Amino acid sequence: MGDARRFLGIGECMVELSPEGQGLFRKGFAGDVFNTLWYAARALGPQWQVEFLTGLGTDALSDEFRAFAAAAGVSCAGAPRLAGRTLGLYMIHLRQGERSFSYWRDSSAARAMMTAPGQVAARLEGAEVIYLTGITLAILPHRDACALLAQVEAVRGAGAVVAFDPNIRPRLWDDPARMRALIERAARTATIVLPSHEDEAAAFGDADPAATAARYGALGCGHVVVKNGAAAVVTRIDGASAEHPVTPVARVVDSTAAGDSFNAAYLAEFLASRDDAAAVRAGGVQAARTISARGALVDTAPGR
Ligand code: ADP
Repeated sequence: MGDARRFLGIGECMVELSPEGQGLFRKGFAGDVFNTLWYAARALGPQWQVEFLTGLGTDALSDEFRAFAAAAGVSCAGAPRLAGRTLGLYMIHLRQGERSFSYWRDSSAARAMMTAPGQVAARLEGAEVIYLTGITLAILPHRDACALLAQVEAVRGAGAVVAFDPNIRPRLWDDPARMRALIERAARTATIVLPSHEDEAAAFGDADPAATAARYGALGCGHVVVKNGAAAVVTRIDGASAEHPVTPVARVVDSTAAGDSFNAAYLAEFLASRDDAAAVRAGGVQAARTISARGALVDTAPGR
């Protein structure tokens, strides 16, 4: 494993409790960056090592998550382990078919990952790909988010591919201006930005996906891939724009992780072939499979 190519995702994974009826709940694990890593571990070739940089506790639940991730080909070996902390948790409520959520995440181990800055820096070093999202930045204390971005900027300078999905969730931020400023700083640091137009329109007022692509291009990002649900994906690479039609899925079962799984398949294909159009196709095929079944982590191989 010593000379494996390293794909490192930075973020938070939470325990998910989903209702099974009669007061019973099923325990799962979910989080945007972890979802992407889960798909990336399948899509990347065996020469890659997929790693999750997060905060974990020293408790049984943290051990269980590590084992779950490892079984999916995602290593948490380098994640800081913080005594007295554990994974954040959310519970899904179903009322008349509508889902709502309760969260216990304020003191999660992931939020404290930067209390071990040396350990984080050591993992970033030598990673060929670094993947993070706006949620990664939102959950960290502001100073820690800035410190993390400074570390990412340093490894980008040394040649790493930095992929960033703004994944804008205004509820996670206490100040919209700070949210926009940090998202823009991360986008300037990134070599590939993978936004979803709907989120961007709400936060930045973009009129259409081309405007989203142009705005990130103007920040200096040379590789922007704008997702837009069932509508065309718009790319802007080294100043050249292209539109890639999407084949709408006939029956969407659960749209969770559409963007997360798109990103994984896009990056895996792009890293292998450097062919942007092929990467958009791969992302679209994976996302279509993901939304055609229940849950975030959909276990379907091609042809099944
Ligand atoms: P997010 O999960 O971030 O909101 P989007 O809704 O923009 O992401 O979707 C991400 C990708 O998933 C799209 O670019 C597209 O490839 C695919 N996708 C989403 N919705 C559909 C749909 N109804 N039919 C087919 N593909 C879809």
